[in-house]
Amino acid sequence: MPKILRTISDVRDFTSLYNLVNRRIGFVPTMGALHEGHLELGKRARKECDCVIYSIFVNPKQFGPSEDLNRYPRDLKGDLEKLDMIGTDAVFIPDDKTMYPEGFSTYIDIGKTGTILCGKSRPGHFRGVATVVSKLFNIVGCDQAYFGKKDIQQFIILKKMVKDMNIPVEIIGVETFREKDGLAMSSRNAYLNKKERTAAAVLFKSLSYAKENFQNFENKNDLISKAAEIISMEKLAVIDYIEVRDYRDLSEVKTLKKGKSVLLMAVKFGNTRLIDNIILN
Ligand code: AMP
Repeated sequence: MPKILRTISDVRDFTSLYNLVNRRIGFVPTMGALHEGHLELGKRARKECDCVIYSIFVNPKQFGPSEDLNRYPRDLKGDLEKLDMIGTDAVFIPDDKTMYPEGFSTYIDIGKTGTILCGKSRPGHFRGVATVVSKLFNIVGCDQAYFGKKDIQQFIILKKMVKDMNIPVEIIGVETFREKDGLAMSSRNAYLNKKERTAAAVLFKSLSYAKENFQNFENKNDLISKAAEIISMEKLAVIDYIEVRDYRDLSEVKTLKKGKSVLLMAVKFGNTRLIDNIILN
């Protein structure tokens, strides 16, 4: 079983042994309720690093007041068994007070990229993500940190954050791990009822269509309309956004440049909001 670390000094005592002999520490931050997508990140870290540390922390600062913080799925026992199977060395499971003691007031301001796409629908979300991840990096002192490209906006924001703030951590992006019907694995998939779960496969249908056919479209708005039309074939789907952006920094693109554009979407099924994206190449 991975060693369970509850406090910041637990983590520092644990990592000091690796630091002493210059070993590479790979880190995977998560909010738990782990699925195979989460485990892919650790498997990659296992190949590339001497020590693999996960964190499990449902970060209250990245949830809006009307979001699902209190009902976010939790399964610590199952998580530890899964982490054991992939050879995790340690898992940091702090409580809210450890991460945000009384009087905590410093936040990372990530600028405009935090206000578009998911940041528009979830004000303050990426500020909360960047703040907790920078704290976790300072606590763990990892060399490499692994993030899923399903959350591509998060990945891009964190890459920028370590560059801007000179944080000596290499951010590594891992491809989206999918169910058989293409639905991106997500802890939130557990909220979907049977009908919603079946309907949710339409996300990947729409993204795949766009990837295969984008070269036949004159402009990006026509492609977006077609992607939306495919989503709307499922009555249960309610589109939050569908956009095409530059895949490197999420800036606006005028034309559909091969290999440089990403199609991103957020779609609600009942109360569950799912996100996904695909690079157009
Ligand atoms: P979360 O617990 O949802 O905050 O996710 C923790 C990490 O796992 C983030 O870097 C996510 O992008 C990544 N992740 C979540 N789902 C997947 C997936 N289906 N494939 C690859 N990475 C994922």
